[in-house]
Amino acid sequence: MTTILASSSPRKRDPQPCLLTDRFGRRLDYLRLAVTARCNLNCRYCRPKRGDWIVAPDALQDEDIVRLARILRQLGVRKVRITGGEPLVRPGIGQLLLSLRTASGIPELYLTTNGIRLNQHLPELQAAAVDGVNVSLDTLRPDRYEWITGFAGLGRVWEGIEHAVEAGLRVKLNVVVQGGVNDDEIADFCRLTRAWPFCVRFIELMPMGPAWRANTAPVSAAEILSRIEGEFGPLSALPNEEGSTARTYRISGHAGTIGVIAAHSRTFCSQCNRLRITPDGQLRLCLYQPGGLDLRSFLRRGLDDEAIAREIQLAVRNKPRDGHAAEKQSRQASQEPMILVGG
Ligand code: SAM
Repeated sequence: MTTILASSSPRKRDPQPCLLTDRFGRRLDYLRLAVTARCNLNCRYCRPKRGDWIVAPDALQDEDIVRLARILRQLGVRKVRITGGEPLVRPGIGQLLLSLRTASGIPELYLTTNGIRLNQHLPELQAAAVDGVNVSLDTLRPDRYEWITGFAGLGRVWEGIEHAVEAGLRVKLNVVVQGGVNDDEIADFCRLTRAWPFCVRFIELMPMGPAWRANTAPVSAAEILSRIEGEFGPLSALPNEEGSTARTYRISGHAGTIGVIAAHSRTFCSQCNRLRITPDGQLRLCLYQPGGLDLRSFLRRGLDDEAIAREIQLAVRNKPRDGHAAEKQSRQASQEPMILVGG
């Protein structure tokens, strides 16, 4: 039994009206922008086997990315999360973040990273006034970390997390829960929130890319929550952030919070406010829908900002009602690895 706590103060009103509304009345004001498909880890469930998929060179130049962000800002996008692949392996990422901050007018800028290079790039993140980082971390055990990712890097990731918290960035840890792989660490991750002020978010494994073929037992969001409550007692549910895919809770007395993301059950689609730009420059309206609007070709063909904005406004009307409907259209999306879509 969870208790719902009173709502926190509402987000400041954005003076820029949102001009991106789909046919279900959802306002699309959050962009996940994948700046590369390359990654410095080889996570078993995420990274395609060599030769399975061609990882193209970064399709968009810095100026293309900043221009698209500026166009989307004019259309009312308020929040951008830089992702990939691993965004911190893109050459010149610090300068790109700075340009996005200064030239696109986007009010909220976040980054998702595997954390391997987080410590090294922290000064650049601070210089660009990045508002927060999500760090993907599926285990707290060094040998298991190496088994999952192919790299003995847990110490480096943890150092990055500590320093990011000390630097005052808003930090979230993303844990993809896999039955028989790391589901025995759910309680350990929860215990971290006793002293650390970050949010640990447990994510359902989606059957995408290598995970589509893998023989990993899925652990549902409901199961994750019930295991946490079994260990720590009833949780207090915190008010949902607008458009957030996570249900957030606090264990009584803990400094940090816990989130559960039903990424595969998809119980949040009716609130979805997301757009994605894939590493090859496609505008994608749903993680589970293949294809997209080819923004890169518009840039190469010399379309002006107004024409690109019009194309985007037309395209977003057709955002699928939910991930299940999108998936029905084609199985293809579920076979694509996340690094090619932008996780
Ligand atoms: N490299 C960055 C990182 O590690 O956060 C950003 C890209 S990565 C593809 C984004 C997130 O997608 C990671 O947290 C990763 O664990 C998650 N992911 C990849 N494949 C997934 C799958 N099949 N199901 C659920 N999450 C997945």
